Amino acid sequence: MTDVHRRRLISFLGAGLCVALPAAALAEGGVEHAEPPARPRPKAKPKAKPAPAAAAPPAPAADPHAAAHAAEPSVTPEEALARLMSGNARYVDGYAAHPHGDKPRRVEVAAGQRPFATILACADSRVAPELIFDQGLGDLFVIRVAGNVVDDAVLASIEYSVIHLGSTLVMALGHERCGAVKATIDALAGRGSPDDRDTRIGALAALITPAVRAVPAGVLDPLDAAVSLNAAHAAGEVFAGSRPLRTRVLAGQLKIVAARYDLDDGRVTPTKTQQA
Ligand SMILES: [Zn+2]
Repeated sequence: MTDVHRRRLISFLGAGLCVALPAAALAEGGVEHAEPPARPRPKAKPKAKPAPAAAAPPAPAADPHAAAHAAEPSVTPEEALARLMSGNARYVDGYAAHPHGDKPRRVEVAAGQRPFATILACADSRVAPELIFDQGLGDLFVIRVAGNVVDDAVLASIEYSVIHLGSTLVMALGHERCGAVKATIDALAGRGSPDDRDTRIGALAALITPAVRAVPAGVLDPLDAAVSLNAAHAAGEVFAGSRPLRTRVLAGQLKIVAARYDLDDGRVTPTKTQQA
């Protein structure tokens, strides 16, 4: 695909996102991040409608665009990172609480979402952010794509989560033995799979290539080095690619970090914080 075609496709996807994710539909009625109530809150039965003649004067119509404005963050970037890391510690130790997965939470977030963190993770089936950070419904805004790469659609999704939903932390999460990164290393070394011919896998590998090329010669584990560099590269792409997000980082309202997930012990280790 040529750059022109890619830009057109990205432009199309960006436009689609605007249609699929109207700000008012998702940002409306944001929820707080306090622990869910101990007991379900049953809905009160609706009272009988008063006769039309006795009805109070109608309230002014709500501004349908009001909810599209930027959401107030519910936590600081530091609190968001601490919450993620404590959830990961519970998961690593085998004491996951599996919060926010019950019916009351489902009902609560049906009215609106206010995720405290945004995770850009690989699509790998072993790297499910809600599980490895021990979070639940409405807690994380998750974007998953093989190799946790950044293109315009991914960046737009991240921008949306920060600007309209109030997320204060963006984490680009690479993981140990990432197949997408390994496939890129193999392709660059001339060991690409013939099965990948006539696929779009090459376009994905092109986005991972800068990290693979940045691996210093002689490192003991080039794949693991490329995984960490690829996550750092993604975090850098988010920072460099979005002026509104950079402004928030500079103001201390947003953190953009890169991290590595260990498949063996389940631990997430932040590796780099995007600096102003
Ligand atoms: Zn992967």
